[in-house]
Amino acid sequence: MNNNIFSEKIKQAFKHNRYSSLLTDSSIDKFFNLAELLVEANKITNLTAITDEDGIILKHFLDCATISKSIPKNSKVIDVGCGGGFPSLPIAIIREDISVLSLDSTGKKIDFVNSAIKELGLKNSRAICARAEEYVKQAREEFDCCVSRAVARLNVLDELCLPFVKIGGVFIAMKSEKAQEELTEAESGIIKLGGRIISTEKQTLSFGCNTASRETITISKIFETPEQYPRKYAQILKKPL
Ligand code: SAM
Repeated sequence: MNNNIFSEKIKQAFKHNRYSSLLTDSSIDKFFNLAELLVEANKITNLTAITDEDGIILKHFLDCATISKSIPKNSKVIDVGCGGGFPSLPIAIIREDISVLSLDSTGKKIDFVNSAIKELGLKNSRAICARAEEYVKQAREEFDCCVSRAVARLNVLDELCLPFVKIGGVFIAMKSEKAQEELTEAESGIIKLGGRIISTEKQTLSFGCNTASRETITISKIFETPEQYPRKYAQILKKPL
């Protein structure tokens, strides 16, 4: 990858979708380094199916960057099922005021995220290899914000994510075309888990000939999640709330 070409492209992509204000010279450098690390690591470990420069800029960096405006100031954030670090790495690059924990159950993915954190010098980030439903036993209601993209249907994801969120905090689920259907399915479970749906926001991002459709669901935590949740993963899957 060429640094100058990448910088021009990422500026154009963010500008075209009216997100220019999220970029600085320093964040552009970090995004360039991250793109290079991702493409290199992906040759050995399967981190992402998107490996072309335009696709990485639009579908990983810009897509994830869009939620940074919904994260409250100085928040302690957890990304459940971060895979190769999405959305956690882009939001940590953009929002230096927040602290971000990337969590995934796959060791090789977390090894990559840890090495990217080190290479990029992201002082506000750390990563841990664990299953959400296990890790929550030591981090229950500790986070101001939980984010998650492409991990499970909402009626499964809500039980993995809402127990991490403090009362007054938010859970931001990055969903695509089936968001409304998933929301209907998950509504009663979200209430049982102490959440209330506060907004859904639909947008289509584009850059060159690529487009990305996104529906972001924001749920606030109104009361404590009852102790019996989350259940074991097999139970969550078999009988979503
Ligand atoms: N969020 C990333 C993204 O959007 O590129 C990765 C999405 S990937 C399709 C789903 C990830 O969720 C996988 O890396 C998987 O290991 C992780 N995952 C699924 N269930 C999990 C759980 N219960 N706890 C932690 N990680 C989980």
